[in-house]
Amino acid sequence: MQPTRVTLEQNEIPTHWYNVVADMPNPPLPPLGPDGNPVSPEQMLAIFPGNLLEQEMSAERWIAIPEPVREILSLWRPTPLIRATRLEKVLGTPCKIFFKYEGVSPSGSHKTNTSVPQAYYNKQAGFSRLTTETGAGQWGSALSFAGQMFDMDIRIYMVKISYEQKPYRRSMMQTWGANVFPSPTDMTQAGRDALAKDPNNQGSLGLAISEAVEEAASRKDTNYSLGSVLNHVLLHQTIIGQEAKTQMAKIGEYPDMVFAPCGGGSNFAGIAFPFFADKAAGKKVRLVGVEPTSCPSMTKGVYRYDFGDVSGYTPLMKMYTLGHNFMPPGIHAGGLRYHGESPLVSQLYHEKLIEAVAVPQVATFAAGVMFAKAEGIIPAPESCHGIRAVIDEALRCKESGEPKTLLFCLSGHGHFDMASYDRYLSGKLEDFDYPQALVEEALKELPNIDWPPKAA
Ligand SMILES: *Cc1c(COP(=O)(O)O)cnc(C)c1O
Repeated sequence: MQPTRVTLEQNEIPTHWYNVVADMPNPPLPPLGPDGNPVSPEQMLAIFPGNLLEQEMSAERWIAIPEPVREILSLWRPTPLIRATRLEKVLGTPCKIFFKYEGVSPSGSHKTNTSVPQAYYNKQAGFSRLTTETGAGQWGSALSFAGQMFDMDIRIYMVKISYEQKPYRRSMMQTWGANVFPSPTDMTQAGRDALAKDPNNQGSLGLAISEAVEEAASRKDTNYSLGSVLNHVLLHQTIIGQEAKTQMAKIGEYPDMVFAPCGGGSNFAGIAFPFFADKAAGKKVRLVGVEPTSCPSMTKGVYRYDFGDVSGYTPLMKMYTLGHNFMPPGIHAGGLRYHGESPLVSQLYHEKLIEAVAVPQVATFAAGVMFAKAEGIIPAPESCHGIRAVIDEALRCKESGEPKTLLFCLSGHGHFDMASYDRYLSGKLEDFDYPQALVEEALKELPNIDWPPKAA
């Protein structure tokens, strides 16, 4: 039998997170307030604990993972690295295709890799109450699980339309003891304002963020937690790539290219940054983020300071953005419907150290179905983006005859997304190319602020 699966022992869970900042050619640019000055840590302390802010601003290469966090991660980690030999055969490619499967976590995606340490650090800092927002429900369920592990009160503002359309994600969060509210609610000013304007408001991620941040900022005992984009979130995900490197080394392999779907950039950073360390040391490896053509932050957006939310509540971050007023088309990869890209991933992309491609929706589901038929696992619609790009590369190699080793992050399973698969299977899914004209339009709304400030 040809072995297809590389597993590790529990004691091979990484002991440290890898901080890419230490290997970046230029330091990251600071988050700014609306006045154009860097935001002080004191301002951030209103919603984040000091220990996580320290990680957010750290330039240390290695940051130790607390033992209680490793212990909980060991419920499902190390995750398997699998060689997709059946997919290789179906494609008739000379490539070797490997994937790191993050869908084995309790909530079914990579997001628990950061929800657990975020809950832990908040608890350590004396906060037992956390708010957050969730759209599709992946992040909300990951934080609910983590909150249950540390006996915390988790309060989730779930976009109303998803609350109604994805009842099982909601039940999952409630099973782990979280309180879930359909947003907009009448519990916050942001929610009440929205409801006053339109009592039938179906909610949006931007509005849910405003509600969650407002509650956290208005209570001393409550903090806010975010599932992607920020430096400390990307840091926590680097156990994915570290494990993958160890696993590939065990069978004498190393990837020529690494792929992952890109929403806010956390699972991409998770698998790619540990390989970036090698690249910074001179090794040849290509790192490719894959985004939807309907939400192409890197491939069509601009590199500018912009807000992280619709209402302009967050600090300004230098990132590839489609504009904070970006109205996401109703695509089925909910986790990729974000107007920006994390500042660290954005900076590396700007400096041409990583790559990005955009793929259309229908083709991603075709790739997901092909993968499910070959390998068994039904991927999350977000993950299908990475798979599409890998299949395209494997087919190019078939043409050229060049045998490459390809690695991708299978960020989650699609068991709660079968309604989207239904639409694909019944031919109702459509492609949408985000028009350049809308990008130009949104850019007019961006604050005219940069760092370092231009001389007057
Ligand atoms: C949230 C999510 C993503 C996108 O978020 P990133 O921060 O870019 O990783 C991708 N895949 C799955 C399964 C998700 O839940």
